[in-house]
Amino acid sequence: MALEELSSDVPLLLLLLIAGASIGFPLGNAWFGVSLAFGIYLYICARRLRLLMRWIADESPYLDPPLLRGPLAAVAWRVKTSRNRLHADIEERDGRVALLRESFSALKDGIVILDASRAIEWCNPGARRLLGLRYPEDKGQHIGNLLRYPGFQEFLATGDSESEFEFTVPDARALTLQVQAARFGEASMVLFVRDLSALKRLETIRQDFVGNISHELRTPLTVIAGYVDTLADLLDSDSPVIAKVLSHMRQQSVRMENLLKDLLLLSQLENSDEPDSSSEEAISVCAMLESIRENALAACSGDRTITLDCDSSLRFRASRVEIESIFSNLIFNAVKYSQSGGSIDVSFRLGDGVVVFKVVDDGIGIDPVHIPRLTERFYRVEKSRSAERGGTGLGLAIVKHALIRLGGEMEVESRHGVGSTFRCVFPLDRLVEDPALPAVAVG
Ligand code: ADP
Repeated sequence: MALEELSSDVPLLLLLLIAGASIGFPLGNAWFGVSLAFGIYLYICARRLRLLMRWIADESPYLDPPLLRGPLAAVAWRVKTSRNRLHADIEERDGRVALLRESFSALKDGIVILDASRAIEWCNPGARRLLGLRYPEDKGQHIGNLLRYPGFQEFLATGDSESEFEFTVPDARALTLQVQAARFGEASMVLFVRDLSALKRLETIRQDFVGNISHELRTPLTVIAGYVDTLADLLDSDSPVIAKVLSHMRQQSVRMENLLKDLLLLSQLENSDEPDSSSEEAISVCAMLESIRENALAACSGDRTITLDCDSSLRFRASRVEIESIFSNLIFNAVKYSQSGGSIDVSFRLGDGVVVFKVVDDGIGIDPVHIPRLTERFYRVEKSRSAERGGTGLGLAIVKHALIRLGGEMEVESRHGVGSTFRCVFPLDRLVEDPALPAVAVG
């Protein structure tokens, strides 16, 4: 507090002392006069303090402080200045919150803010439209009581910004929604809800188109391949030019046939992540793997060593086409991308609470930068090498989708020039335990 603020009461005090002295001296008691003067001064101070306290207790930011003199006037003006600043800050914050809410309200996507107990604090019109929430009626309601989708509660408990929860709204709109969660503050959470229906529709159209076109192209291609064979029989095979042209035509038609076959299979697998239980059977995996091994050895004219380590007691529940496409794509890739004389180890065994299928080769290997993209359609590390070895670029995409349907996952370890390991793990419940169930022989 500045000295001048403290000294502003000095004239008043002097006046009171003079008045006190003029009363005390005639009475012959100067101390009485001085005490009286201080007593009156204290009374004035107490009154001022009361006025100040009353003003502070009144929270209206617009009320000016009472007219006070002395040190308390300075206190009052300081309180007033801090109060004004605080009020301005609050107004600014409220303005920002209002702006945020307004912009969130304009979004087509849904936003739901949940408190620590996962009760709704606020939601925008997008969330109301997509999720059927009502606001403010549903404020304070636990979100899990309003959105009763299987797995949603677990998602709320464990969900972070990396994970997504997808579901279809069970009403006439049949919207496909995706929810992402982000935690903020102490334990609050914000849910972002996106409508994926249009994307899903487009994806279905694309898949149907690819499936249909592959199917339609197969018939004319079979006819053309047939004519190539007929021509090869009819024409003079001594002509090296014609023989070369026909062999090239046959090679290309086989390649195209493989491509269409893979495209058709991939579009069937992509149609649903759920397995079709009606097409599942108990499969003697070892017999199937042995048959693929023989075919793979034949494809490389036996110039690779392929070892097979398989638990013959294991029978696996799966769609024959799907599990066979996983096994053969990985084993044929090991052959395609290894050199003559290379060795390939294939195993199918019980692991730690899982079933593990593994293919290890000592082939050309893959630079780790390519590994995350290997299962994309038509992704090839070296396009020319893949084409030259009869690759369609769809093998690992097929493996990925077949694995999803079987509840499996794939890990890839590879070093350029050293070799690769493709490891697929399947849940134990894929094993058939009932010995009464007939294992289907592999043809
Ligand atoms: P492709 O028909 O071209 O083999 P895939 O989808 O099966 O297509 O594989 C994608 C790419 O992954 C291949 O083009 C190849 O570059 C690489 N790849 C797959 N398996 C192996 C392997 N065992 N060793 C080295 N590279 C591989």
